[in-house]
Amino acid sequence: MLDFVNRRLILPLIARKRGSQHLQFLDYLERTQFDSPELVRARQLGMVKAMLHHAWKTVPFYQQAWAAAGLHPDAVRSLADLQQFPIVTKSDIRTQPDLLLSSAYDREKLRVKTTSGSTGVPLVIRIDEPGVQWKYACTLRADQWSGYRLGQRVAKVWGNPEYRHFGLKGRLSNLLVDRAIYLDTIGLTSERIREFADNLRRHRPGLLFGHAHSLYLLACQLKKAGITDVRPHGIISTAMPLYDWQRTVIESVFGVPATNRYGCEEVSLIACECEQHHGLHITAESVFTEVEPSGHLLITDLTNFAMPLIRYRIGDVVTTTDRVCPCGRGLPLLERVEGRDADFVVTPSGALISGISLTENFALHIPGTAQVQIVQEERTHLRVRMVVDATFNAASRRKLGELVQELFGPTMRYELDIVDNIPQEPSGKYRFCISKVAADHLQELSA
Ligand SMILES: [Zn+2]
Repeated sequence: MLDFVNRRLILPLIARKRGSQHLQFLDYLERTQFDSPELVRARQLGMVKAMLHHAWKTVPFYQQAWAAAGLHPDAVRSLADLQQFPIVTKSDIRTQPDLLLSSAYDREKLRVKTTSGSTGVPLVIRIDEPGVQWKYACTLRADQWSGYRLGQRVAKVWGNPEYRHFGLKGRLSNLLVDRAIYLDTIGLTSERIREFADNLRRHRPGLLFGHAHSLYLLACQLKKAGITDVRPHGIISTAMPLYDWQRTVIESVFGVPATNRYGCEEVSLIACECEQHHGLHITAESVFTEVEPSGHLLITDLTNFAMPLIRYRIGDVVTTTDRVCPCGRGLPLLERVEGRDADFVVTPSGALISGISLTENFALHIPGTAQVQIVQEERTHLRVRMVVDATFNAASRRKLGELVQELFGPTMRYELDIVDNIPQEPSGKYRFCISKVAADHLQELSA
């Protein structure tokens, strides 16, 4: 009953008060997902063209790059024609962020997203308000593919709960809108997992949401404790690959299929499984995707007009498919996301820290960091490899020492290697966090 009131009354009221159109967008997207593949692609072509013309008129980065290559947006008559246009890299975003901004927007009014992403390169993305609302609506639509219904309570197994960054307003909004309960993956102990399980039993969330491996660990703990009555309507696994062995345990403990999802801070949701759980539907109303011969995914953001990302190489390797999903949605499918890793690191006292949380802390808080890789060689020893720029100095070194101490405690030793580059895995994937001891520890925890 409370869920219904929340969905039909409280959420629309809050949206109106904030001037947000995301619920109207959601209504539209609920319909367009069932359009034919042909119509979906035709609509994408229109959106790609609009973005190209907008970038050509107002974004210096593309004006320069395309003029130098003798290209003009008028050359694009089909989606395949986009292949002539140059690729945008993380390095472009990092080194020339201002050139990527559209002159049609007031920079001060844009939403700022700071991310280390999955590759350990810190990036700042700016996005206009309608773009934010549109992406939010796309995410809400996909949330409901999991079996969850908008308005139900959400339980999040996560690092750095986002609402905390917005002070009292964030906490209030969490209380009213998400009504979320959190398990922070920074410092994950058996005791904290048990406490969270008690919360789950009490609050009965409609959706369980989190990193694949955190969900798996939670499921293992519940299984061990003989708790079989936590029954969310949906489970969404994100930010890490969801392996079959994890999925099996998660689904057996919670009695509901796990929904695998793929996205990133730069463009938000990219793809998500539907209730068929056979491939991930691309959010075609928000991103247009291409795959390079190497398997690397290129993304053209169709909705962020403030800082257009056109043919952006995100750093993940994927497999696509031409299969049509029996669910009836015309949204194209990704078969698999191959390369995306966020290992855990274990602290000397036995707590787990997720790789994504670590990267955020190191890459975002240490001045002058271009890229970072953390290798845990022993329980009490870290090797920190960093690619740095000219602004890296003594204060940056001090900050690194402070962060290691803060996150791992006083007994963790570390060595800093300043390197020219951090090598990729054979798959083309960069691993930012490699622990040679966490696997054993995880095994113990889940045994
Ligand atoms: Zn489907």
